[in-house]
Amino acid sequence: MIYTFTLNTAIDRIIYFEEELERKKNNKISHYLYDVGGKATHVSIILSQLGIDNIAAGFIGTEKGGLLKELLKEYNVKSEFIVQEGKTRESFVLVDNSGKGSFMITEKGFTVNEESYEKIIGYINEKLKKGDVAVFAGGPPPGIDEEKYRRLLRAANEKDAKLFVDCSGKFLKTAILETPFLIKPNKDEFEEFISKSGISDENEYIPYMEKLLDSGVKNVLLSLGKDGSMLAMENREVYRVYPPKIKEINDTGAGDSFVGGVVAGIAGNGDLLEAVKSATAISASKVASGMSSGFNNEEVEEFLKEIKIKKLK
Ligand code: ATP
Ligand code: MG
Ligand code: MG
Repeated sequence: MIYTFTLNTAIDRIIYFEEELERKKNNKISHYLYDVGGKATHVSIILSQLGIDNIAAGFIGTEKGGLLKELLKEYNVKSEFIVQEGKTRESFVLVDNSGKGSFMITEKGFTVNEESYEKIIGYINEKLKKGDVAVFAGGPPPGIDEEKYRRLLRAANEKDAKLFVDCSGKFLKTAILETPFLIKPNKDEFEEFISKSGISDENEYIPYMEKLLDSGVKNVLLSLGKDGSMLAMENREVYRVYPPKIKEINDTGAGDSFVGGVVAGIAGNGDLLEAVKSATAISASKVASGMSSGFNNEEVEEFLKEIKIKKLK
């Protein structure tokens, strides 16, 4: 089974306005809708769209938690969340007609208490088995510090689950200590990690990626937005993947659909480079479509033909 863990779940409330938003004015809402907020829940949506069985886990609040479960159900995603007294956070996405992009307004989320934390450790201990996949995407909410985050990853590790981690900052540093099967930092997250910014030559990344392999991380997948990705693998081969050229409509969630595609590929025939190739097509389709989650099957077939892969090492 594939388990996706979103520790700081969210519901997106997407609010549409007919005119440009202005201060000191009555901005009239045209309509609004709810959608699943990002990170590992979006990985689940991609998996379900590909017909791959998976369970979305993590924490929800008593308030609005049911709504998140309903929204996931609409995408055929099964969920088994730990429920805590409190409100599942909402992210307000304000979309007007200005063409200047949307406003994103987010809540912090409730503080996970000791009881809920121990429940999720118990869940991992009870459910995960050797050969399962555990995907941790997105940072943890208040109440889970680096030490607690590490213990969660370790619990999955001790069950011999294949660990995929997509997080940043101090939590990325912590995750690396648990030597995941794969980490997927984006350019900014990786450059923050190596304390170097504005790298334009791909070769500059390679020694840092190799150092991560030395430290025990099995595979490093560095995503570079429209410039594609770099993959350093357990066998020490390093590749650059070039995505299709597309018209970008909405790149939020590109990383989640990318991770979803990779997990799907690994669950399929298990070839990582092939998995990254199909993930590249899936995430490009997501970015070209403007949906907050999901992709277009026919487009993915077309995009697959345009992807170029170069062996760097
Ligand atoms: P997120 O905002 O979801 O956290 P991210 O910043 O972690 O995303 P990106 O590096 O932006 O992730 O994108 C992940 C992958 O999606 C890229 O490696 C690439 O393959 C694909 N992708 C993103 N943007 C584009 C684009 N404009 N054109 C084609 N492919 C894209
Ligand atoms: Mg990005
Ligand atoms: Mg990301």
